Amino acid sequence: MRTDIERPNVFAGPHVDRLKLSHADSETVALAIAEGTARLIPVWRSRCPLIRTPSPSAFLFEFGGGPFADIDVDELILLGEYGGRAVFTIEIEADTPPPLADGAEFADLRLAAGLLPHEEAGLLAYARAMVSFRHRHRFCGSCGAPTRPQRAGRMMVCTNEGCATEFFPRVDPAIIVLVTQGDRALLGRQAGWPEGRYSTIAGFVEPGESLEDAVRREVFEETGIVAGATSYQSSQPWPFPRSLMLGFRAEALSNDVHLGDEELEDARWFSRAEIAAGTPLLPFPQSIAFRLIEEWYDAGSVRPLAEEMHLRGRG
Ligand SMILES: [Zn+2]
Repeated sequence: MRTDIERPNVFAGPHVDRLKLSHADSETVALAIAEGTARLIPVWRSRCPLIRTPSPSAFLFEFGGGPFADIDVDELILLGEYGGRAVFTIEIEADTPPPLADGAEFADLRLAAGLLPHEEAGLLAYARAMVSFRHRHRFCGSCGAPTRPQRAGRMMVCTNEGCATEFFPRVDPAIIVLVTQGDRALLGRQAGWPEGRYSTIAGFVEPGESLEDAVRREVFEETGIVAGATSYQSSQPWPFPRSLMLGFRAEALSNDVHLGDEELEDARWFSRAEIAAGTPLLPFPQSIAFRLIEEWYDAGSVRPLAEEMHLRGRG
């Protein structure tokens, strides 16, 4: 099994140097833009700019020209340094997408992530998450006054002097777990999914819970299965809009599935042989759900799951 450092999950990875510019203020922002090396990632309706040819890649803009010549500097959010350049993002609030170059478009990152180079998927995910943070903190959640940006857009401060509450980007922790028992794994499906697709159990961590508590509660609520010992596997930023998926494995202490909270339409045990045969359609390969299944499968099989799927695809 490859470790998380050899194989980071999609959207993960320290591709952006956040430290180098962490103390940036409006002066450093102006300087970076004046130098001409800075780049901009406009985000329109949560969609990120891509160019499809010659191969899919993130579309980064120069400052000072093109469709984003008249941006408000106060609306910029500094992401950090990427490939030796300061990189910013900004939300484009328009009913229609601004014109881009031929072959470029604003794309849904969930669908495009698998096409992009790993580090670019991570960069765009980070931009999308920061734009979402900014969008949701235009007003103070404590007193209702407007907020203003600080630290190059990476925090918002209430403009009411008597309040002055500070808002920082947050992530929502969610657990995602593969429950196993010997040679079989517990997978569930939601009603809206494509026919035959099954995946791991997932849900948000609630106040007052540890991650392990959340794993056992979600598994029991959704499937009626009692989960015992848990072990952490890896994690994946999931900026739709701001989750962090914390991946676990858990051993089942009971057998009988009873659907609980109406989150799932079905939940069943699948053997490795059924998974190899393609009986459940598995989640997308770029998801941590797929990775949890794959790592468990490979640990108990002579032939890796990726190879089984490849062979099946050809047959
Ligand atoms: Zn306030």
